[in-house]
Amino acid sequence: MMLRRQVREIGRIQSMRRLSCKSPAGRDQAFSLAEASKDPSRVRELRLEDSSPDLQCRNVFCEFAGGSCVCKLSKWIEQTHGRLSALRVMSLRDARLGKLPPSIWMLEQLEELDLRGNDLKEIPPGILGMRKLRVLKLDDNAFEAPPDGISELQNLSEFTI
Ligand SMILES: [Zn+2]
Repeated sequence: MMLRRQVREIGRIQSMRRLSCKSPAGRDQAFSLAEASKDPSRVRELRLEDSSPDLQCRNVFCEFAGGSCVCKLSKWIEQTHGRLSALRVMSLRDARLGKLPPSIWMLEQLEELDLRGNDLKEIPPGILGMRKLRVLKLDDNAFEAPPDGISELQNLSEFTI
């Protein structure tokens, strides 16, 4: 629900004594690239999860065509990263991705990265450039070892694998 549009209506409920609001709308979350593209500088959390259409490949020249793929997301980050100054949280949870967008390391301002539920075998060393990362979730992937040099991320306070 677009809760922001409903606020006036809710305010007319005269019998209201307690209002609980858990809708993510208004917290500057985006759940698709189209949504995030409307005003990239306001997006604090970008969540492309499960079978997000933004992670389904329609590029016939791509080796992952027809399946989960990051080519669209990677290009979007390349084109948009300069305007993503508010972005702190990215989730690509349960997307069954075999690799990460090569451009994801441009997002040096990220504080939380949720990659649970993918098919990742390794994390490229680019992650060591994410100096502000506090939370890194890698559970349910195909790793054999934790990412090299992970101890260099000095702000990391939550790490799951
Ligand atoms: Zn692709």
